Amino acid sequence: MKVLKFGGSSVASSESIKKVINIVKESSNNNKTAVVVSALGGVTDLLLEAGNLACNGNNSYLDTFKTIEEKHLQVVRELIPINNQSGVLGQIKKMLNLLENTLEGVFLINELSNKTSDKIVSFGELFSSFIIANALQNNNLDAVLKNSQELIITNENFSNASVKFDKTNANIEAFFKQNTNKVVVFPGFVAKTENGEVSTLGRGGSDYTAAIIAAATNASVLEIWTDVSGMYTANPKFVREAFPIPNISYREAMELSHFGAKVLYPPTIQPILKKEIPICIKNTFEPSAAGTLITKTALNSNPIKGISHIENMALITLEGSGMVGIPGISKRLFGALSLEKINVSLITQASSEHSICFAISNNDASKAKNVINQEFSYEIEQAKIDPVIIEENNAIIALVGDNMKSHQGISGKMFSTLGRNNVNIRAIAQGASEKNISAVILHKDIKKALNTLHSEFFENQTRQLNLFVVGVGNVGGKLLEQIKQQQAYLLKNLRLQVRVIALTNSKKMFFNEDGVDLENWKTALGNGETLDMDLFHQKIVDLNYRNSIFVDNTANENISKLYASYLKESVAVVTCNKIACSSNYTNYLNLKQLSRTYNAPFLFETNVGAGLPIIDTLKNLIASGDKVNKIQAVLSGSLNFVFNNFNEENSFYNVVEQAGAQGYTEPDPRIDLSGVDVMRKILILARESGTQLELSDIENDSFLPESSLAAITVPEFLETLKAEATHFNKIYNKAAKNNCRLKFVAEFDNGKAKVGLQEIPSGHPFYNLDGSDNIVLFFTERYPVQPLIIKGAGAGADVTASGLFADIIKIGNN
Ligand code: ADP
Ligand code: ASP
Ligand code: MG
Repeated sequence: MKVLKFGGSSVASSESIKKVINIVKESSNNNKTAVVVSALGGVTDLLLEAGNLACNGNNSYLDTFKTIEEKHLQVVRELIPINNQSGVLGQIKKMLNLLENTLEGVFLINELSNKTSDKIVSFGELFSSFIIANALQNNNLDAVLKNSQELIITNENFSNASVKFDKTNANIEAFFKQNTNKVVVFPGFVAKTENGEVSTLGRGGSDYTAAIIAAATNASVLEIWTDVSGMYTANPKFVREAFPIPNISYREAMELSHFGAKVLYPPTIQPILKKEIPICIKNTFEPSAAGTLITKTALNSNPIKGISHIENMALITLEGSGMVGIPGISKRLFGALSLEKINVSLITQASSEHSICFAISNNDASKAKNVINQEFSYEIEQAKIDPVIIEENNAIIALVGDNMKSHQGISGKMFSTLGRNNVNIRAIAQGASEKNISAVILHKDIKKALNTLHSEFFENQTRQLNLFVVGVGNVGGKLLEQIKQQQAYLLKNLRLQVRVIALTNSKKMFFNEDGVDLENWKTALGNGETLDMDLFHQKIVDLNYRNSIFVDNTANENISKLYASYLKESVAVVTCNKIACSSNYTNYLNLKQLSRTYNAPFLFETNVGAGLPIIDTLKNLIASGDKVNKIQAVLSGSLNFVFNNFNEENSFYNVVEQAGAQGYTEPDPRIDLSGVDVMRKILILARESGTQLELSDIENDSFLPESSLAAITVPEFLETLKAEATHFNKIYNKAAKNNCRLKFVAEFDNGKAKVGLQEIPSGHPFYNLDGSDNIVLFFTERYPVQPLIIKGAGAGADVTASGLFADIIKIGNN
């Protein structure tokens, strides 16, 4: 015989029940088949809701009742041929009347015991089994309905009753001895006490009903038909990359389900265990998928089978000097909790015995607090034990696998992975059997923790980078183009999955939690929502993706002021915007400190020399113990472009305009021409060399005339460049007469920095600097005479974007 159990989602509508009928048909061709069904999807919750409303004297329980009524009548109308409908509808209406009467009773007396609640909630399975048995008969199957309440006998622990197996097994055996139908349909979840009162087996208990029947009949297989294709490596609703585990052992399945893998009700395995009946978890909506096979032993090379989690946990700590070396404290503690039926999911005790920490459901937290404080009231009064500490909004996350014990370093990898992603671990437990390593984390970190662990243990070590890109102008646009072009390469060769989750321009923002399609980002952004940087931040925090990176492609001061708020949330910052690093020293230091504290990289290689590896080289020099004595540099690609192209034929004004058009200058060219941009760059290099310096400490010998410096707007400024042609020609002619070229040079020497236009003679390393190139000379203790030189294109959207991209990849490779 086969036992098939169909869960709520498999029987939620007439459409899905039709799929169930096909699956039962197929099975009953060759096997006697027991079919166990849950209530129609969502009905158990509705019944509980109606009961609670009625109990609170709220007559909107009638609306909920109507919803339940309509749901069932509609399914009957859609499923049973019209000629046979009236009998089924009549019977369902009779049962609905009974339900309504019970609810009315609750409403009138304002009381809802577990016993009455069981009576109410049992209607869900009674309705569904009745409808499905009829539907099977109407599909010409030799099917009969048997009320499992007549077979499954429990104690009187209503709402979560324990089965009396002797009587139950005997009843089931006796029933099947005389039954000759090919298909028998049972309501799951429901049972009765020895006194004939309605009881239930706990939420999700239809799986258990099916297991009880399978074990009592020595069934060849127990098939659990649900809405996913098996037991997954992690809850597929949280981890997109999770996949069905082909084969898993009973113990592993039990651990996973105990720790939150709801796809199987935890007690289900118990009756099956001794008989070694295989369990198959299958998908009603994809019957051809292999699903998961649960057997006594399971072969699989990965020592970890799955990751599960339980939400809404409270962490409770009991501590005090009065606990050290005193026997019986744990017994009293857990004894008191057990009397109140509070289930403890995880326990840790420091070897000093100074504190015990354990996790329970949030719902039990205040009850637990009272019980414990009462139990230890004497010790608390004597200040030997502190009043109990309760922290709500936690979760437990667990790695499960029979073979973890024979592999070293799994817990180390688990905790370092979580730590690297800034998931704070509040408590840890590892059973001596090493089938399960669990940690208590904050509720808000569940998704991130599951995904990072899943990626670490199951996904070929692919690292996902999630980018939030602010600014899609010249540089941002190029960056998106480069990412689009390289996505496949990075995935294949570096195992990096680079996803752009959000984009903004100055007016709009657009989010796609699965990654923006980079073929169509312009249209998507055009149709996006109005830009709101607070909301942008909130969304990133709420998504709480691992390896989140805020990418600033703007030159905007307000955006630069947001970095701290991202770093504090462990979101990395990659920026080509120089304002933050050249703002006051305290702010610069604070950002670096936040980056270290929150383990969130803060990278700004493109602040100096666009894509050239200047800052990285400097960092490496310092990290390896070198000391910078002097830096000489031409750091403005824009000014270099300007002075390389400015001559007798090409006026200063023209060249500046050209530079702007080709993206060589900042949006406001005054930032380049006034020398401020170069000041910022040398300031950043000085700071990265370890010197505390402010922008105001830097000497700037400007080559601009008074009128240009006084201009208020950009157009006015450009006009002065035209009007002051003589001034600029004079500078040019003087240098030409001396056989020199003009270069805007930055120097940092002996703790002091200055910038200014210099006449460079031939033979000097700066003399032949072409186009918009940059050059940096590092004179250090290890390079005292011949400096370490970095030279190359130092401006332009393309190279800046590739510098940003390199910083992003650096985060992926760490
Ligand atoms: P049914 O109504 O069929 O009994 P449940 O809702 O009880 O179904 O269980 C199926 C659900 O369990 C899935 O839709 C999924 O969201 C959840 N689930 C949690 N963890 C896992 C896991 N590791 N593998 C598969 N499903 C899981
Ligand atoms: N209908 C019950 C519930 O929703 C039992 C089950 O579906 O397994 O909990
Ligand atoms: Mg279930």
